[in-house]
Amino acid sequence: MNTVYNEMILLKCGEMVLKGLNRRVFEEQLLKNVRYRLARIGKFSVRAMQSTVYIRPEGESNTPEVVDVAVEAMQQVYGVVAVCRTAECEKDMAQILDLVPKYCADALESARTFKCEVRRSDKHFPLTSPEIAMEAGGAILDAFPHLSVSLDHPELVVYVEIRDRAAYIHAGKLPGAGGLPVGVGGKGLLLLSGGIDSPVAGHMMAKRGVELTAVHFESPPYTSMRARQKVLDLAAQMSRRCGRFKLYVVNTAKIMEEIRDNCPEDLFTLILRRFMMRISVAVAEKEACGAVITGESLGQVASQTMQALAVTNAVCDRLIFRPLIGMDKEEIIRVARETGTFEISTLPYEDCCTVFTPKHPKTKPRMQQLLDAEEALDVEALTAAALSAAEILQIRA
Ligand code: ATP
Ligand code: MG
Repeated sequence: MNTVYNEMILLKCGEMVLKGLNRRVFEEQLLKNVRYRLARIGKFSVRAMQSTVYIRPEGESNTPEVVDVAVEAMQQVYGVVAVCRTAECEKDMAQILDLVPKYCADALESARTFKCEVRRSDKHFPLTSPEIAMEAGGAILDAFPHLSVSLDHPELVVYVEIRDRAAYIHAGKLPGAGGLPVGVGGKGLLLLSGGIDSPVAGHMMAKRGVELTAVHFESPPYTSMRARQKVLDLAAQMSRRCGRFKLYVVNTAKIMEEIRDNCPEDLFTLILRRFMMRISVAVAEKEACGAVITGESLGQVASQTMQALAVTNAVCDRLIFRPLIGMDKEEIIRVARETGTFEISTLPYEDCCTVFTPKHPKTKPRMQQLLDAEEALDVEALTAAALSAAEILQIRA
């Protein structure tokens, strides 16, 4: 027997299921994000039914190699809890029994114990779940006599799912990125440096559905082209999970020189950070971002004490998300590794904050000290000039 089947990718959507009336909105956003990712890989048809997304590779895209790439891409989409690579066939027992050992052959070959799990959502199917499991298990044992059944601790679970339109066979799920589909949580402006923290902050908010725009501050000639390229590489890596986004690149060299020449050295970093925040607020306004996102973590450096955060906070009139505020570096690094930014972030190129770093930065600044120091600068003009010279780049994976 040579059963005809099609490979299909099934996506299980987790949290969305719980969202009641919003579910439609979430599902549509997820489908949009999935279609956008797949369009770059090949030709696929995509539909959603009962919190599962069905992806069918079409025509020339129906090859194991293209499906490999698509499966990997779907594991990066926020809102997807698990990804199943399956064989779809008719709901016919002879075909199912023929296909189970064939489609799962690689996995069965290398296992010693297994069991079959059956989901039967089509209640009209003539056999019950235990009956299907018995027969499928028998077909596997016939084809792979080295195996034995273990109901409690199987090395491998083979799944047979009898759904409305067809039967699906697979040898287990792969983990998805989880979270909510990017786009359902509003828009946020990420302050993206070349460090470890800010890409993690961006990923954490994108995972809660926030669509990102980003701003990066550079200061050539004090920072190099390689430092800029590092940020572009980080952004491209981020867009694998966060979707495409705009990156504003703002030159702060002039602002830094003005601060250096006119302000007390121990306040240098904080005055600069207040400029960054003012410019970010203006970009957020322009891009209709409801929140600003930073990678700050309490106590990590001198500019991230409670008092220091307060003086940067004071020039921002909108919501600030600091998703890393209570995290240890170890925890942050774990997420950076998982999302693939760690290797890029740890390249050695300097960012603009490390060039003019004061020897003894103030850790407990008082607001009045900053207001006094800034008297020496034309804050508004410097902010406006930096903003109007910003470059806007489109980032995609
Ligand atoms: P990161 O690892 O993200 O660079 P950090 O530990 O080096 O953070 P800071 O340099 O104090 O800490 O920056 C704190 C936050 O301010 C960053 O997480 C980022 O959101 C923002 N930020 C700092 N420098 C820049 C920059 N050059 N461009 C854009 N945002 C920046
Ligand atoms: Mg930094």
